[in-house]
Amino acid sequence: MLVKVIYENESISAKLMSGWGISYLLDGHILFDTGEKFQSLFKNMKNMSVNINDIDAVVISHNHWDHVGGLWELLKRRQGIKVYLCPGFGDDFIKKVKDSGGEPIKAAGILQVAPNVYSTGEVAGEYKDKFMPEQALVVRSDRGISVMTGCSHPGIIQILESIKEKFPGDHFYSVFGGFHLEGKQKDHLDQVVDGFQKLGVKKVGASHCSGDKAKGLFRDRYKNDFIDVKAGMGIHL
Ligand SMILES: [Zn+2]
Ligand SMILES: [Zn+2]
Repeated sequence: MLVKVIYENESISAKLMSGWGISYLLDGHILFDTGEKFQSLFKNMKNMSVNINDIDAVVISHNHWDHVGGLWELLKRRQGIKVYLCPGFGDDFIKKVKDSGGEPIKAAGILQVAPNVYSTGEVAGEYKDKFMPEQALVVRSDRGISVMTGCSHPGIIQILESIKEKFPGDHFYSVFGGFHLEGKQKDHLDQVVDGFQKLGVKKVGASHCSGDKAKGLFRDRYKNDFIDVKAGMGIHL
């Protein structure tokens, strides 16, 4: 399965927009997060020969502007598509999805989005002392399971532990996205990197809000198995 990185904090080419946020396209038709604004998303899709009409589902990791920013205009142009969200995003969010023409689907627990593609369901998290529920996307392939994360506000290790529980017969292949480790002490970061290795994760793409220090530590430890996730890239799972 191929993941196209539509939007990220960095890009591989000056032709592509980059900025704070993420958007990954899975198998040409499932969009995980929508970056900060639709214009950037749409421009990158055009440059990457992605047809917006092929998108039939959007999975929103959590309700932060750099992940939902592009959603509303996308829904106007792709009426009726499914939007997978956490119940904890609240009724106003769900109503806005409906009013914008989307079909909200609540992922309370683990939920299949497409063959071999699952939402983890809502994982409780916090951001600046406020409740911030989040879901991650899990893809199963011959190589194992891969995980895409938005900001990992529940804690990246907590998210991976919950996936391990929910997919007991599987092993991890890759994990990439935002790990929210900016400003964390080295001891904490070392524990996180150790945690990835203990969980048997083969490839890591610490990006977006992971912070330069964490990225450096993952890069040192994982060497050729570190994925430098940038807009314009394709990642094979
Ligand atoms: Zn973010
Ligand atoms: Zn966030």
